[in-house]
Amino acid sequence: MNDTELRTCKKCGGVKEINEFVRVPRPKKTYYTYTCKKCVSEQAKAKWFVRREEYRKKYTPEVTKELRRRFKERHGAEYINTYQREYYKNNIARRIRARVYGRLHYAIRTGKIIAGIKCEQCGKEHCKIESHHEDYNKPLEVKWLCTECHGLIHTSK
Ligand SMILES: [Zn+2]
Ligand SMILES: [Zn+2]
Ligand SMILES: [Zn+2]
Repeated sequence: MNDTELRTCKKCGGVKEINEFVRVPRPKKTYYTYTCKKCVSEQAKAKWFVRREEYRKKYTPEVTKELRRRFKERHGAEYINTYQREYYKNNIARRIRARVYGRLHYAIRTGKIIAGIKCEQCGKEHCKIESHHEDYNKPLEVKWLCTECHGLIHTSK
């Protein structure tokens, strides 16, 4: 198959060069679709519109309200409150962690901090060494630990 081969699109009937069709790389043999790129993308768009319409029809404001009411009935307002609080708390923890690691990795990249190559707990080398924070308020104060020691620290807490 060469790049100048022509193919007729099954959908629009247009005769186009092979690179106007979607290339599908497969381990055994790479092939091209029989529908041209333009038609493929239009089809996808149309499908998406249909799905969105269906979703809109299905989940009208009344339906969503009813679903929410039923959920409350089944789980109780208490459950929902705890659920939301937990979610919020986890979300904050995740954000803090991301910020701390961002600062740490920046410090490593700029050479302010040298990443550990040896576990500070057991002295193991040539293995995966992870950073551990005792205090997320001090992003640059890290302990370098092997995965085992790191795991132990977190499970023993
Ligand atoms: Zn076409
Ligand atoms: Zn260790
Ligand atoms: Zn840790």
